[in-house]
Amino acid sequence: MSKLVIIGGGASGLAAAIAAACTIQAKQRADKHLEVVLCEAADRVGKSILATGNGRCNFSNSNPDPCYYWNGEFVGRVFEALESTSSLCQSECVDHMAAAPFGHVAVADNVPLRFFDSLNLAWREEAQGKLYPLANKSSVVLDVLRARIQTLGICELCEQRVVSIRRNDDGYTLSLSSGETMDAAVVVLACGGRGIEQIKLPAGCATKLGKPVLGPLRVSETSLVKSLDNVRVRSAARLLDESGNLTSTEIGEVLFRPYGVSGIAIFNLSRLIAYKDQVIELDFIPALKDEDALEFVMRRATQCQALGYGVSAETILRGLVLPPVARAIVKAAHISSHLPFQQRDGEALAKTLKHFVLHVQGIGDERQCQVMRGGLDVASFNVQTLEANKLPGLFACGEALDVDGPCGGFNLHWAWASGLLAGSQAALKACDLS
Ligand SMILES: Cc1cc2nc3c(=O)[nH]c(=O)nc-3n(C[C@H](O)[C@H](O)[C@H](O)COP(=O)(O)OP(=O)(O)OC[C@H]3O[C@@H](n4cnc5c(N)ncnc54)[C@H](O)[C@@H]3O)c2cc1C
Repeated sequence: MSKLVIIGGGASGLAAAIAAACTIQAKQRADKHLEVVLCEAADRVGKSILATGNGRCNFSNSNPDPCYYWNGEFVGRVFEALESTSSLCQSECVDHMAAAPFGHVAVADNVPLRFFDSLNLAWREEAQGKLYPLANKSSVVLDVLRARIQTLGICELCEQRVVSIRRNDDGYTLSLSSGETMDAAVVVLACGGRGIEQIKLPAGCATKLGKPVLGPLRVSETSLVKSLDNVRVRSAARLLDESGNLTSTEIGEVLFRPYGVSGIAIFNLSRLIAYKDQVIELDFIPALKDEDALEFVMRRATQCQALGYGVSAETILRGLVLPPVARAIVKAAHISSHLPFQQRDGEALAKTLKHFVLHVQGIGDERQCQVMRGGLDVASFNVQTLEANKLPGLFACGEALDVDGPCGGFNLHWAWASGLLAGSQAALKACDLS
């Protein structure tokens, strides 16, 4: 029996498998002995999905603009290709036209959302367009995918790690960690950013060295951040280059760790860290302009006097930030608590509240990074089909390709979208070959 093998049963692999089986079914080729096989290294498929969104699975975003992605031009063209081919390949799973189900998200021009609507997944929209299953559990997303995998008769091969892929006369031979081999007419690489580094690929598949991103950052001010371990603040976080020019700003929660800073705002900035000694500035009063910060501080000083507290940097910060954060700000501003508070202390306090400087040393804890930058070079793949230019019958999707996006559902959206395109195109190819 001829096989279409998908390597990796994570987000993109499950979408690819469903799209492939639907496409084969729509072409009424199921009887021609073309089998869709999902080959997964772990003991079950979809484990990576369960861990997403703190167990809630931020599975997509209502505005998946390609400009948010690394290799965004490629991503935009893949999204366009998916839109234009989804009505051509006549697979029920991507051709379903649905009315907006929940959260007022228009699904008409969004194939991954139409796909999930067709699987009966209900969802809702949270801040910044983040989409979560209505049941608020990632297991629900996996449930709808697995249910469809079963009704389509897709073969799940778990605890089967693909070690290497080589070309043969009819397609590809996959070597498995069990020592066995498996022949495939067509292969889809859906093994994620870490997985792709561990497979020996056939010549003609260019890869870029992977580096973990979308994670916490290590900074040189260790004694300062250690004193704030586990404290969360809402602030603006600005990334500056070595000349002090602004690279990017994120507003949101920042979590202090003993080695540095974490939280969604920091995760997003971590995608832009290019070298050591970039600077992160936390702004604890982002609603105020720099020129208004001193007046703000001195007004609070006057208020402290009126309240009978005595004027000090600590009393001025009381009610504005948590006590450990106040102590860290006073320390960073080099204000002595033993001397009377003066105008120049007010200036230092105002400046530090707006510009709490941390020097970035790199990623803080690689295990916490949500994606890998790098992997298969997108230039080696046909943007209409996700087939390798020099390796006919070898397709790729998801994080195995050198694509990543910020937090907010963008990475899973890419996984579904690229999986649907690669899966349906791989099936068309396999049907032509069989
Ligand atoms: C903690 C965490 C939380 C996240 N939360 C979100 C979120 O809320 N929203 C969002 O959009 N993104 C989130 N992401 C990112 C998102 O999970 C990934 O971008 C997405 O899962 C990538 O899909 P993929 O199919 O390419 O890879 P994966 O989902 O990682 O799947 C790859 C699969 O391939 C298998 N595999 C690997 N190598 C082999 C091999 N040699 N042979 C066989 N099988 C193999 C793996 O076991 C795995 O099952 C999160 C990531 C992490 C780590």
